[in-house]
Amino acid sequence: MSVTCEVALIKSQDLNEGEAALLRNAHQAALNAYAPYSGFHVGAAVRLKSGTVILGNNQENIAYPSGLCGERVAVFSAGAQFPEDDIESIAIVSPSPLAVPDTFMPCGSCRQVLREAELRQKTPIKIYLQARDEVVMVSKSASNLLPFSFTIQNGVFK
Ligand SMILES: [Zn+2]
Repeated sequence: MSVTCEVALIKSQDLNEGEAALLRNAHQAALNAYAPYSGFHVGAAVRLKSGTVILGNNQENIAYPSGLCGERVAVFSAGAQFPEDDIESIAIVSPSPLAVPDTFMPCGSCRQVLREAELRQKTPIKIYLQARDEVVMVSKSASNLLPFSFTIQNGVFK
């Protein structure tokens, strides 16, 4: 058995205007993150098929682990508000000095949430990741970030 995980590294100036705008939205969301404990501000912007953009950012709490990652805030908010509107793409950004370029990734729980959203809507979600520099990591599907995710078959988790 072999597993392939494809991601591309693209300079931000080579992104199209729609992609660049989504990253700007995520950056703006990061500035409003509530991260007094970690100091690690993360913003996310989900673009739905309709073109609607939903923002999220990490929301921490002194009663750790009651907080939630920025990308999950955005994905769950999209599901709560527009359950019939599929997710086309998500940009996840951190301007934090703690975010290391080329290794900035969603946590495992967020990868599973993104992967399940893909499985539910039956179309891939394009993911853009940017941490403090001009290089953006792009994945055409959450499956690239979590190849051994839990899956759903006939409505049953596997
Ligand atoms: Zn996470």
